[in-house]
Amino acid sequence: MEPAQPAPATSNISVRRGEPLVVIEQVEKHFGDLHVLNDINTVVNRGEVVVVIGPSGSGKSTLCRAINRLETIDSGTISIDGAHLPEEGAALAKLRADVGMVFQSFNLFAHKTVLENVTIAPIRVKKMARKAADELAMKLLERVGVANQASKMPAQLSGGQQQRVAIARSLAMNPKLILLDEPTSALDPEMINEVLDVMIGLAKDGMTMIVVTHEMGFARKAADRVLFMADGKIVEEATPAEFFDNPQSDRAKDFLSKIL
Ligand code: ADP
Ligand code: MG
Repeated sequence: MEPAQPAPATSNISVRRGEPLVVIEQVEKHFGDLHVLNDINTVVNRGEVVVVIGPSGSGKSTLCRAINRLETIDSGTISIDGAHLPEEGAALAKLRADVGMVFQSFNLFAHKTVLENVTIAPIRVKKMARKAADELAMKLLERVGVANQASKMPAQLSGGQQQRVAIARSLAMNPKLILLDEPTSALDPEMINEVLDVMIGLAKDGMTMIVVTHEMGFARKAADRVLFMADGKIVEEATPAEFFDNPQSDRAKDFLSKIL
């Protein structure tokens, strides 16, 4: 089984963009008085890399969690590959299997080896035989450059290595989409690039990704589109070149002046 979708014939963006995979329409979410998602509308096409940026508290993580149904929404719709997000039950488990999620804090199972971290979902959820799961996991660990750590425990690895294991673990379910929420924010600076390089590799292989990140180099290099969020709204939606070189809103100009 191949972990990722087939590589596109060319890296030309217009060719890479396929049919809609994630369709988000009129999504609203409140936490008490806080309007955390305010009329969110966007479409992520198959094979697209969308980078979400914006100030802290603007709703980026909540949006990611809503896409994966780790968070409910008040109204609006989110569909993945044509299926509306189910509330619960087997359909929700299926959806979660289709959407990989990588968090800032790695979230590896501390008492399982690196290899077991990658095989556990294919074995338990997909009922894959152990031997096949081990082979798949080794292939994926190789792909992210940590195959030689397979028998270690997560705590024996560096942060960058752990995050690459987390990416391999999400790939093991052969997801249609991977959400990465600030995957390099908890890393020491010298480990950031090793994780970004893996993500750039996935992008080149045609994996559909939604990435919350402040790594503007990554956004410029790998993103097809940037969503800039502020106060629960998508304030700008543009190509990286358009957004970084010619931001339209005062919010975006202000944000960029602080981080660039
Ligand atoms: P970001 O990822 O852009 O920093 P978040 O989506 O994490 O923003 O949070 C957006 C806002 O929602 C913040 O003000 C945060 O404090 C608030 N928030 C997030 N989760 C909860 C929750 N479970 N209950 C109440 N408020 C929350
Ligand atoms: Mg966040």
